[in-house]
Amino acid sequence: MAASMEQSVATRVCETTSCDKEAKLQCPTCIKLGISGSFFCNQECFKGFWGEHKKVHKKAKGEDNQDITEDQKSEWAGFKFTGALRPGKVMKKRTAPDHIPRPDYAEHPTGEPTSERQMRGNHNIRILTAEEQEGVRQACKLGREVLDIAAKAIGVGVTTAEIDRLVYEACIDRQCYPSPLNYYCFPASCCTSVNEVICHGIPDTRKLEDGDIVNVDITVYYKGYHGDLNETFYVGKVDERYKKLVRVAWECLDLAIKEVKPGVRYRDIGSFIQKHAQANGFSVVRSYCGHGIHSLFHTAPNVPHYAKNKAIGIMKPGHSFTIEPMINEGVWRDEMWPDKWTAVTEDGKRSAQFEHTLLVTETGCEILTRRREKNAQPHFMDSENNAE
Ligand SMILES: [Zn+2]
Ligand SMILES: [Zn+2]
Repeated sequence: MAASMEQSVATRVCETTSCDKEAKLQCPTCIKLGISGSFFCNQECFKGFWGEHKKVHKKAKGEDNQDITEDQKSEWAGFKFTGALRPGKVMKKRTAPDHIPRPDYAEHPTGEPTSERQMRGNHNIRILTAEEQEGVRQACKLGREVLDIAAKAIGVGVTTAEIDRLVYEACIDRQCYPSPLNYYCFPASCCTSVNEVICHGIPDTRKLEDGDIVNVDITVYYKGYHGDLNETFYVGKVDERYKKLVRVAWECLDLAIKEVKPGVRYRDIGSFIQKHAQANGFSVVRSYCGHGIHSLFHTAPNVPHYAKNKAIGIMKPGHSFTIEPMINEGVWRDEMWPDKWTAVTEDGKRSAQFEHTLLVTETGCEILTRRREKNAQPHFMDSENNAE
């Protein structure tokens, strides 16, 4: 990790979608309007991308105000975006119908997961009883169904808010509560993370564009247990270099899972992930980790994805937890948008992620959130040549 750790100054990348040259020219209108994230490599790129770029000015001037609320406008004023992605309008927060059983934070005014907070600093990893294991297994199976529904909807021109609506409805149809909803006040039913967003992107009115990559992260709560998974998807025709990023992120998860068995230290998982990411010229996000999951959404163990971490605990049969490596094209460092959720790469380059919930068995692990079709391969592979 030493190589990327020394890159303390983020290099800006040209905003033109198809260009990744270093960018030092800043749009003069953006400077005037106090939008400081808009960089281009040269005049050609600037002119060529003008049609798209001028929408940013419209937004800042409020001419596009159906797309952004007053609150959002003041929140974002002067914010320095690291890449080309801009937020759309976030839809009104939903509430699950009364008959859906829900976790404690669902009704809490500030979304505090009280039961989770009580366990803070406790490194004991719960060994699930057979009944509890079955509970997590069922939640994971339903979470997988919901993700598969979201996967079908992804395409050019579709908004992430629309995906969120489908996710919400698929959850309710299955008597599930969408776990992210109101978790520390999170405003939606899933996370949608586009391009340079590392994780925790909020679904909004931005339409997915040809060439984007988008991660959809689903967690459902069913009969007292959570199941958590995510995949990164291609939107339209994706450039080969981003396909490589997505593929390597998947391989990182896949090879980490193969290491899971009783006796393995949680701290050792990250070295396998980091080794593979680095061998491909990519870096591993350090601020967000895998986590224990059962009746609590996020609990012990903490599962970092980078090497030489100090995570506590040894795997035992009956442990359930996630592995969810976030792999970056550029530097590993992250930054947060003013919405206090969206984590983006510090250099504006893209990030990809995959996640499964696992149950440690006597000999290895059960991938509780595995896909039940196509030999459990992730959806992005369906569109590649190896798909039947
Ligand atoms: Zn997740
Ligand atoms: Zn997770």
